Amino acid sequence: MSKIIRCECGFVANGDTDDDVVAAIEAHMASDHPALLAQVDRHDIFGWIERA
Ligand SMILES: [Zn+2]
Repeated sequence: MSKIIRCECGFVANGDTDDDVVAAIEAHMASDHPALLAQVDRHDIFGWIERA
């Protein structure tokens, strides 16, 4: 069972664990959506995790 987070732009972050997928989406947001990343905290990001 892996974890995914779907970005609003269509990017899909994948990870084996919650921490992995959160790190992946944070890296994507840091490069593509830095303003959005500044508005959310880790608690919000953990709430976006889906099971794939
Ligand atoms: Zn994105």
